[in-house]
Amino acid sequence: MAQVLFLGGFGRSGTTLVERLLGELPGMCALGEIVHLWQRDIRDDERCGCGARFSGCAFWRRVGDLAFNGWANVDVDRVHALRDAVERTRHIPRLASATAATDEVREYASYYARVYAAAAEVSGARMVIDSSKHSALAHVLRWADDVDLKVVHVVRDARGVAYSWTKTVTRPETDGTDEMTRYSPGRSAVLWNAHNAAFGLLARRGVPVYRIRYEEFLTDPRAGLIRLADFAGLPLHPENLDFLRKEHADLRVGHSAAGNPMRFTVGRLALRRDDAWVRALPSAQRRLVGAVCGPLLRAYGYPLNIASEA
Ligand SMILES: [Zn+2]
Repeated sequence: MAQVLFLGGFGRSGTTLVERLLGELPGMCALGEIVHLWQRDIRDDERCGCGARFSGCAFWRRVGDLAFNGWANVDVDRVHALRDAVERTRHIPRLASATAATDEVREYASYYARVYAAAAEVSGARMVIDSSKHSALAHVLRWADDVDLKVVHVVRDARGVAYSWTKTVTRPETDGTDEMTRYSPGRSAVLWNAHNAAFGLLARRGVPVYRIRYEEFLTDPRAGLIRLADFAGLPLHPENLDFLRKEHADLRVGHSAAGNPMRFTVGRLALRRDDAWVRALPSAQRRLVGAVCGPLLRAYGYPLNIASEA
């Protein structure tokens, strides 16, 4: 039975940073966004967090050998067909209300379970981290037979998230030829609501879900990490946090399969809140996002009226 810590939330909420810090803890192995493994790695051979092409990374080669007798044996078209059939945001109500999983849900979940189990064995870690974020995938994994699932739900102020989605970010794994998706603030607000609400629903279905506010986590990452390790059931010694200071972390090479460009960072990483949106997100857009996301923002403890700085 693979012990899995799933990092969930809407994109641009800070899951990659949380994953990088958790991945430094003994007994943890951070895998990146496994939801993208099938296309970006197995098929497109993009770069692993260690810098090597996926096919050239010894860690992932061993995982593939153990899980599937080699990645060439994974029917990526089948994985995609299953994903389209079961892992969509519109399927969440059905997934959440089901009393038994369909064969397709079980089959789709089994691909992930095999990756998790093999990665745990190859790394020797007691717990693997999947930072796929997607709420629909977390609902699918609830039905995996051989996954002991715990979910960390990372929430960030919807207005900061909306601002982040308006910015252009290049995807370094494609050597600068491709940019990350952008959303308008209105679209981002609607998606923020849907994805965050879905994790509340998951918790009500009995999955252990621990919610953190990204901004609060960054004010004291050490305390935040201790609480996360406690939730994960991971014993910690004070020296395990030596890599972490209030304003920076010293990161080792990781093998994140996919995700935000921060997965490539090795060495010193500054830890600071990015509140640029308070000044940079136009007030009309800020009001729009605040109105759409108001109920959940309030439920999570965010102030609705934030004076823009002069
Ligand atoms: Zn690697």
